[in-house]
Amino acid sequence: MAKFDFDVGILGGGSGGLTVAAGAAQLGAKTLLVDKEGKLGGDCLHYGCVPSKTLIMTAHARHMMRRARHYGLPEVDLPAVDFKDVAKRIQRVIGTIQKHDSEERFCKLGVKVEYGESTFIDEHSLRLNGKDYSAKNWIVATGSSPSIPPIKGLDKTPFITNRQIFSLDELPKSMIILGGGPIAIEMAQAFARLGTKVTVIQRSGQILGKEDKDMADLVMNVLSGEGVTFYLNASIESTQDLGSEKEVVVKTAEGAAVALRGQTILAAAGREANVRGVGLEHIGVDFDKKGIRVDDRMRTNHKHIYAIGDVNGKYLFTHAAGYEGGIVIGNVIFHLPRKADFTNLPWCNYTDPELANIGKNEKMAKAAGIEYSVWTEEFTANDRSLAEGEEIGRIKMLLDAKENPIGVQILGPHAGELVSEWVAVMNGKVKLSSLASAIHPYPTLGEINKKVAGNFLSTKLFSDKVRKGLRFLFSLKGRACEPSTAK
Ligand SMILES: Cc1cc2nc3c(=O)[nH]c(=O)nc-3n(C[C@H](O)[C@H](O)[C@H](O)COP(=O)(O)OP(=O)(O)OC[C@H]3O[C@@H](n4cnc5c(N)ncnc54)[C@H](O)[C@@H]3O)c2cc1C
Repeated sequence: MAKFDFDVGILGGGSGGLTVAAGAAQLGAKTLLVDKEGKLGGDCLHYGCVPSKTLIMTAHARHMMRRARHYGLPEVDLPAVDFKDVAKRIQRVIGTIQKHDSEERFCKLGVKVEYGESTFIDEHSLRLNGKDYSAKNWIVATGSSPSIPPIKGLDKTPFITNRQIFSLDELPKSMIILGGGPIAIEMAQAFARLGTKVTVIQRSGQILGKEDKDMADLVMNVLSGEGVTFYLNASIESTQDLGSEKEVVVKTAEGAAVALRGQTILAAAGREANVRGVGLEHIGVDFDKKGIRVDDRMRTNHKHIYAIGDVNGKYLFTHAAGYEGGIVIGNVIFHLPRKADFTNLPWCNYTDPELANIGKNEKMAKAAGIEYSVWTEEFTANDRSLAEGEEIGRIKMLLDAKENPIGVQILGPHAGELVSEWVAVMNGKVKLSSLASAIHPYPTLGEINKKVAGNFLSTKLFSDKVRKGLRFLFSLKGRACEPSTAK
């Protein structure tokens, strides 16, 4: 008889857990998947990526209608938004994707799915609904939750988080957002576009703190232009429930106390790992404030227990959770010492314009003490961008001392799609000359990738010496046209 009930046990059926479950079961491992909620898909599907991007699209559609004149169309008189209809669309999209993440599909793949609160009773066994389940290897993929800042009065003031925001009954007239990270900023723009008066309170001197300030400031300018109010370098002193409105007292950068009022408060001031309640302390798995500590192979201090996705606090993205899930499959199923490498990790802020990044930005390069040069190209010089009425944005390419790309940031239309070409270039170690000489279709936004590489290469190709030499040779024949001198 086998020593354990399962080869692989997974705690958490979100982006990370589902990746391991599908991979392990299809490769023949006896696999158990446990989730405390009665559905699979995790935050990404139900309260994160999918509903937020669906909402952003709805808000974009309304924004485009309001900009009708900009496109030479008659002005449109827009009625107020009924958020119930918006929420219904969000649920429809979630429902469609849910089929892909359903218990039935995973059961067909060979995964046993169980729901309920569970706790580790020893290093190999979990107690769930009064029954014990043992597995040779365990993967903890319990995700993260909104972190609620310790603000005076907040415990007595109703507020919402990403768990409630996509299923509101009505569009809030006004919203005060605590925090200025990606979730806060994406929601700020989306709700402002739907008609909510939005105020963002951010502790530091810039929004989207991971990004370079020049790029984040451009995003902030766009949002300000769309009516969002920002308080930067501001601390939240207290909150109070005033009935139909809530009050948030802010100490501004200048030291003044300002009492703001809004119908809704959205707490979006960071995330904390879901490490409590599963008995990790009981079995001695190390974790700290950031999450469960893991090595490059995603192993905890117990080598047969892995932690992937938001719960390890490394990179809070769905694609990072999926990638880490792949690393675990390599280690657990193929017994290969596969290590994670996040050098070329891409991500995107789905604001409009989007702000996408791969590898190192200037902030990260400076922190790592890497010498770099920056090459840029503006979207105002991209014909497709202008045709589409998009005039804000730029691409920044960072090269190291050996002139290899170490990072690219793109602020512009569909930046999240455009960065994918750099995923191939950087992971495939493609030469910049190959990118610059490859034919790109005209007119496309993607030409900006080719152009920025060309900007760097042209300085090599057309050095002062080459330029002077060519000018001399051609000047022997005289110039074809001389500008007429004004009299
Ligand atoms: C508003 C918002 C927008 C986002 N947008 C993006 C985006 O555009 N792109 C992107 O890459 N990322 C985005 N993210 C982040 C992304 O959602 C997470 O990085 C991703 O879901 C992490 O996957 P995970 O598997 O670690 O956790 P999750 O997908 O959250 O899954 C965790 C699972 O564990 C279960 N669980 C929790 N505790 C227990 C327990 N004790 N026992 C059993 N099960 C448990 C939960 O029910 C859940 O199903 C967004 C997040 C938010 C909040």
